[in-house]
Amino acid sequence: MESKEIRKRFLEFFEKKQHEIVSSAPMVVQNDPTLMFTNAGMNQFKDFFLGNSEPSSNRIVDTQKCLRVSGKHNDLEEVGMDTYHHTMFEMLGNWSFGDYFKKEAIAWAWELLTKEFNLPQDRMYASVFGGDEVDGLEMDQEAYDYWKDIIPEDRIINGSKKDNFWEMGDTGPCGPCSEIHIDLRSNEEVAKVPGKDLVNMDHPQVVEIWNLVFMQFNRLANGSLQNLPAQHVDTGMGFERLAMAIQGKKSNYDTDVFTPLINFLAKSAHVKYGDDEKTDIALRVISDHVRAISFAIADGQLPSNNKAGYVIRRILRRAVRYGYTFLNFKEPFIHTLVPLLAEQFDGVFPELIAQKDFIGKVIMEEESSFLHTLDKGLSKLDTITKDAEKESRVIDGKIAFELYDTYGFPFDLTSLIARENELSVDEEGFKKEMEIQKNRSKKAAETSAGDWIELKPIEEVQFLGYDTLTSKAQIVKYQAIEEKGKKLFKIVLDQTPFYAESGGQVGDSGYIADGENKTSIIDTKKENNLIVHFTTELPSNLETEFEAVVNSKKRKLTENNHSATHLLHAALRQVLGTHVQQKGSLVDEKVLRFDFSHFSKMTDEEVAKVEKIVNQKIRANIALNEKRNVPIGEAQEMGAMALFGEKYGDFVRVITFDKDYSVELCGGTHVPATGTIGLLKIVSEGSVAAGVRRIEAITADKAEEYYNKQNELVAQVNELLHHPKDTLKAIEALVKEKQELTKAIESINAEKSSAQKEVLQKAIQSINGYNVLISEAQLPDTEGLKKLSFELKNEVDNLIMIVAADIAGKPQISIMISEDLVKSLDLHAGNLIKELAKEIKGGGGGQPFYATAGGKDISGLSSVVTKAKAIIEGVTNH
Ligand code: ATP
Ligand code: MG
Repeated sequence: MESKEIRKRFLEFFEKKQHEIVSSAPMVVQNDPTLMFTNAGMNQFKDFFLGNSEPSSNRIVDTQKCLRVSGKHNDLEEVGMDTYHHTMFEMLGNWSFGDYFKKEAIAWAWELLTKEFNLPQDRMYASVFGGDEVDGLEMDQEAYDYWKDIIPEDRIINGSKKDNFWEMGDTGPCGPCSEIHIDLRSNEEVAKVPGKDLVNMDHPQVVEIWNLVFMQFNRLANGSLQNLPAQHVDTGMGFERLAMAIQGKKSNYDTDVFTPLINFLAKSAHVKYGDDEKTDIALRVISDHVRAISFAIADGQLPSNNKAGYVIRRILRRAVRYGYTFLNFKEPFIHTLVPLLAEQFDGVFPELIAQKDFIGKVIMEEESSFLHTLDKGLSKLDTITKDAEKESRVIDGKIAFELYDTYGFPFDLTSLIARENELSVDEEGFKKEMEIQKNRSKKAAETSAGDWIELKPIEEVQFLGYDTLTSKAQIVKYQAIEEKGKKLFKIVLDQTPFYAESGGQVGDSGYIADGENKTSIIDTKKENNLIVHFTTELPSNLETEFEAVVNSKKRKLTENNHSATHLLHAALRQVLGTHVQQKGSLVDEKVLRFDFSHFSKMTDEEVAKVEKIVNQKIRANIALNEKRNVPIGEAQEMGAMALFGEKYGDFVRVITFDKDYSVELCGGTHVPATGTIGLLKIVSEGSVAAGVRRIEAITADKAEEYYNKQNELVAQVNELLHHPKDTLKAIEALVKEKQELTKAIESINAEKSSAQKEVLQKAIQSINGYNVLISEAQLPDTEGLKKLSFELKNEVDNLIMIVAADIAGKPQISIMISEDLVKSLDLHAGNLIKELAKEIKGGGGGQPFYATAGGKDISGLSSVVTKAKAIIEGVTNH
């Protein structure tokens, strides 16, 4: 059975049992401070478990893109080493929100595996939660009893809290779970060691395929458990592992999910999969990682230098390194897999096909820059190995860490290269540096939070901010937090006009008032579906009714920029093409910043054209058409852009400014009609990452200010030029005149210098066969003095020249000595000038035959001459 068919049958099996099929949430998580990437199917449903919001259906089935490379679930180091852990994988899940519980979940799982997929009953084991003293929980007898009805008791295993109590993170919904394991070994092997002994023992062919989680509790910050308002089922089955079991393979990489990628790679590397453990690992690593990277980019997370972007960059670099070291890929290669991957997921995850050129381009640029770094690192390592050789034949731990940190060299690569050079690496030192860095970043990220204190239970928070900027509000709950040493409070209101930062639009600020007592709200952010208001102090009376008031000036300026962003986006697609997609956006009261996919720098004409279109649309004063709670399908028909990345249950809001011009999915706030924006001015266009451009623009007052400033500048220029008829012509004339004047001055100066030269020539004295010129002089510029010095050197033999010049009021000394004399008299112009420069409070230097010095004290020129004469007399008298 092909994997596509397996996925389809899973979804349809539960659909027949009244489950609604929903699509995967994006792998990149927005609006959740506790999570960067989706690490389990339940993430997108967290609010349903917590009772923060209601699902549209209480039975759901889906396949969810997951990534386990950071936080509580991190499998990165296993990936490629073993054959059944991936970075990115699909988790198949069926869900009950307060509907069916353990009995049905267990019975249906068994029915699916054994009847629909015909997996061998006697090769499967079930585990149940065995209880935990610390949490004060008994074993899960209920689950045990349901299993006992289906399978023999000797195939039921009592598991520990580690394996059989599922938690997404340190806090949040959790509960006991029941896992299904399958033994895929040959009959001979099974005869030798029973499968039961190998469950949860990291055996590659005795693996967990499905986890049925019974959500009952919420873990609080202090570690204690609280009952959830209702009981739920959350199941997760690894799609790739299921395919391995059904297709009768020994490894996920032998299923049709991976073989096309592996074969393609092996062919380009001229190796065969299965021939050599080292190249096999590399092939597995790359074919796994390309999926993680591609889906992350498709979901909007570009590789970058921090947070989620950095995680993606590290995965990509890990793949590059394996290819470089073990498959001899010295040129970018990962990006060549993208078209293949996109085709594989056609119809399942359409975001790959839709963006495959963009994804490929981003990956290629990232690869080539890292390969470059790798080369630099290797040559650095080369010099290090040579240095180390001289001394102890050990590479310092600090250096190994620097290679790791700056050049992405893992420790094993450094020690491999070291070994090839018969050196060793100080592993202890490396570990110490690593620890220091870990602590440093831990400190930087440290935030602590108390539990939420509930004041008034409610069903759902009402956001009123699309229609009003003030409202009555009561505090539902609050929490004290500490962020980077600052104490803050988070407040949730039952209803609020405050817009929470999202979709690039900044959060509102303002205040909540209890009569005369105002508490300022400094920011508003989204946490899952909650709107969280931030304040530095709590109001004294928490349980009263407040007046919530948004800072309307800031909000309205922000709206100008947000609506202008939509107009800009549409104009860019008109001018550059429909490959333009939003890749990031920031909208606040000052500026709008829009990142979009496009491969080359925009020309000045393109920028001007875009600006012109947007300003036309502004003047057309197009009324806002806002539709809330639109089903996704309908939004698609309306032609809305940005359909990827929506999460099930999100209400979709469609913002239209002229249905033939701009239709976007957007949760932000907007102007009532485009005329409000007044004016848009693009202030910059540049590159932010491979294939991504950034435009910054200003609107309304800010744009007006910009043009006013330009006008003022022109007015000032005109004033200086005494109001010419044509400013530009006047400036051109000025520039031309200046050039002519400069030329004239240069020729006058040259004349002056040559006249001075004649005077000096006459002043040369012959002393004991040396031609000595020590004199003051007046010259128009230093260039003239230099020219004169060299001319005299060429014309006069045995020359010792020291000229103390007044150059337009500034003292300057020039010394020139014939090369022969430098040796025979042991003279050094550079040293001599240091001594003489003291007289003019200056300094200088130069070569043995020629030196110059400048100074501050023009009155010292005569002393320079006196001193020089005394010195030279001593030299020439010998
Ligand atoms: P394991 O112990 O094998 O790492 P797990 O206990 O971490 O699994 P769960 O968190 O219960 O797994 O996830 C549910 C299912 O998702 C698992 O039964 C397995 O089939 C699959 N799964 C978990 N982690 C991975 C991974 N890194 N790669 C592929 N599939 C995975
Ligand atoms: Mg795991």
